[in-house]
Amino acid sequence: MSRMPLEVDYLVVGAGAMGMAFTDTILHESDATIALVDRLDRPGGHWNHAYPFVRLHQPSAYYGVNSRPLGENRLDASGRNAGMMELAGAHEILAYFDTVLRRDFLPSGRVSWFPQCTCLCDSSVRLTATGATRQVKAGKVVDATYMKVQVPRVTPPNFEVAGAVTCVPPNGLATVGEAYRGFVVVGAGKTGIDSCLHLLDLGVAPDRITWIKPRESWLFDRAQMQPEGFGDHSLLDYILLQAQEIAASTSRADLFRRLETCGALVRIEPDIEPTMFRCATVSQAELADLRRIRNVVRLGRVQRLETTCITLDQGEVACHADTLFIDCTADGLEKRPTKPIFRDKRITLQTVRPCQQLFAAAMIGHVECAYADEAQKNALCVPVPHPDVTDDYLHMMRDIMRAQMAWAADPDLFQWLVMSRLDGLTTPGFRALLEGNGPAPAEQIVDTAQRAIENLGRFIESR
Ligand SMILES: Cc1cc2nc3c(=O)[nH]c(=O)nc-3n(C[C@H](O)[C@H](O)[C@H](O)COP(=O)(O)OP(=O)(O)OC[C@H]3O[C@@H](n4cnc5c(N)ncnc54)[C@H](O)[C@@H]3O)c2cc1C
Repeated sequence: MSRMPLEVDYLVVGAGAMGMAFTDTILHESDATIALVDRLDRPGGHWNHAYPFVRLHQPSAYYGVNSRPLGENRLDASGRNAGMMELAGAHEILAYFDTVLRRDFLPSGRVSWFPQCTCLCDSSVRLTATGATRQVKAGKVVDATYMKVQVPRVTPPNFEVAGAVTCVPPNGLATVGEAYRGFVVVGAGKTGIDSCLHLLDLGVAPDRITWIKPRESWLFDRAQMQPEGFGDHSLLDYILLQAQEIAASTSRADLFRRLETCGALVRIEPDIEPTMFRCATVSQAELADLRRIRNVVRLGRVQRLETTCITLDQGEVACHADTLFIDCTADGLEKRPTKPIFRDKRITLQTVRPCQQLFAAAMIGHVECAYADEAQKNALCVPVPHPDVTDDYLHMMRDIMRAQMAWAADPDLFQWLVMSRLDGLTTPGFRALLEGNGPAPAEQIVDTAQRAIENLGRFIESR
């Protein structure tokens, strides 16, 4: 490794999806040079540790980097996602990011790639294999690690596991080579959902599956959030539908009733009031299959697994000794404290529209290239934490609508958003709406959004 310090405009720490999306925008919208560093040997971050049966839960059409499409813009013809836009799996996503690196970034001559390197501080990078350090003089440091994504394969269970118990991450489920009498899926999030569906796909009878769900969740219906031009319901229609229901609702309880009635939110158990909301997205076919699993344990979180007993916060449940436990408890969407995205010579990548991290990273890259004033950059890029509990839905919708209105007021930014592949919401259809060429007058749309924002404020304050 050279002893000379490497001089670059940006040192991007983390080549996960957010680091890649940010780098792509900087590369295409400036002539800056970039050092891209990751502890892993290839880009894609948490997807390198993914279980093989994972797929995106939202369409490939708005995932990846802005400049290169992911997938073929095709509707799935079979399976539980039939009739909807394709969902890339982990292998496809990793191959995609490798292509972005090798075909787009490196041939530009402006990106220096440091695989298997750890960023020690803002000015030095250590090559893991040799221990050598390379000094970097960077105009700005971009922290693309702040969202702290955790996935089960590299996150130990947060409960005790007695020696004789077989407890694996979902990756272990994908290679299971022997029959078990029972399967216990621990965790109610997207990974737990995927594991339950995978077990059913393997032909395991629903009554051999036990699902430990500390909380029930509101979920998005994927059919409602298809890219514009595909299917009957685009993401834009979906947000407008929710805005109308929010504007018309008289209380928080009335709001969630309305959202369920119009199909904006769905839940697995119609009789249980959800307390969780984390943007997990399912199809109706997935929902129907998940409802086939009737052995559901709702006694809080697991504290300890033993061969014949599961100890939870609120009680114990017996299990057969011949049970495979699947740990789906890692927090892939931690609710991190927010911090200013632009501060001096540091950019901390965070979400600026809930649950759309890659869009956020690309937009932050654009704002960095197109605006000079730090206060203006931070005003356009207001970080929003990941949702976790039901009330976070209220904050999330308010954040989305406020940001859309602020962004639409900046003509250049609005034009960029309309052209951005990763922005599934600010589409040509959205522009037509604001120009008065949609099904309703523009003033009516803005009025609905404002009334919805007011109602959300009232419901948030009434808690
Ligand atoms: C199972 C799953 C499914 C998802 N599905 C969707 C979806 O359908 N649609 C959607 O929009 N989003 C989805 N997401 C969310 C989205 O994929 C991720 O949040 C997004 O990829 C963010 O990744 P990241 O770059 O922030 O983090 P990571 O993937 O964690 O990347 C961070 C990188 O930083 C590196 N690193 C950390 N510290 C250092 C250091 N000191 N030096 C060098 N390198 C370092 C790590 O090795 C890692 O590669 C999903 C997430 C999960 C977990």
